[in-house]
Amino acid sequence: MIILLRNEADPKNVSALKERLAGWNVKVSSADVFGTEALKLEGDLDKVDFSLVKSFDCVSTITKTGDPFKFASRRNYPEKTVIEVGGVKIGDGSFNVIAGPCSVESDEQICGIAASVKESGATILRGGAFKPRTSPYAFQGLKARGIEMLSEAKKRTGMPVISEIVDISSLPYFEHVDIIQVGARNMQNFELLKELGHINKPVLLKRGPANTIEEFLLSAEYILSGGNRNVILCERGVRTFESMTRNTLDIAAIPILKKLSHLPVFADPSHACGRSDIVPAIAIACCAAGADGVMVEVHNDPVNAFSDGAQSITPAAFSEMMKKIRAVSKINETV
Ligand code: PEP
Ligand code: MN
Repeated sequence: MIILLRNEADPKNVSALKERLAGWNVKVSSADVFGTEALKLEGDLDKVDFSLVKSFDCVSTITKTGDPFKFASRRNYPEKTVIEVGGVKIGDGSFNVIAGPCSVESDEQICGIAASVKESGATILRGGAFKPRTSPYAFQGLKARGIEMLSEAKKRTGMPVISEIVDISSLPYFEHVDIIQVGARNMQNFELLKELGHINKPVLLKRGPANTIEEFLLSAEYILSGGNRNVILCERGVRTFESMTRNTLDIAAIPILKKLSHLPVFADPSHACGRSDIVPAIAIACCAAGADGVMVEVHNDPVNAFSDGAQSITPAAFSEMMKKIRAVSKINETV
């Protein structure tokens, strides 16, 4: 870490800065950067408050030389993380499609959708049971009963399943759930993330709608640093001025995350778009951009869905989308 000082820096201010840095137990040495005085910092920089450092009058610029997200960093861990659930490999270069309804509604609904998406090539089944809804009056999910129905669909189809957790106290219900989803709203629920760091089950972490890529990776770091190295990142759209879509899918986040981190990167075109007519096109774009997979909401009767019907595609549309995804994946594999 290099702190470049202003040419006209007040020596008293520089001394005050050095004193503050010493308080964080970092080694400070003077350096010359093209004729400008600089301070080189070494040691454990985790405790250093760089916003405070920047506020010193003598500071011109701060050049960070390492990633703040140590375990998520590809620089520190060049080998890609491959996660295996129920015979499905995630992050090994193949393209996985997670599909299913926003909410589990009944045995017939989840089992019917599971069979059709499996037939079309989905490898993992999704189904929300504990639902984080914007309105407290909206359907909140079937909770434990919903997880049981999802488990039944898993038994019948052999597909691994993913479902969202909103509160660590419901973790015992997730015994037969293969991947735990942390939704966008909980990306910075640090206490939840810390608890998930102490288990071994894979966690799919969604990016918050107003969070930067660095904040996203630091949230992943909460899970990784606790010991759970099975984290999947998922871009699901961020809030912008655009009103034609529910959110704006940050497609650039896909190659950026792949570059910065060794973790598998997914995208969720359903929550990004909020409208089913463009979900297939955006899912195909995510595949082309190098994602390890997508998560897509599929419903047999979108108009009557308990949640997110407008963005849910039908099994028939899903089947068509999969044909195109297979073609794009093939190109990715051969070039
Ligand atoms: C969901 O997957 O149904 C969900 C609530 O997603 P998000 O956290 O991206 O809004
Ligand atoms: Mn949903």
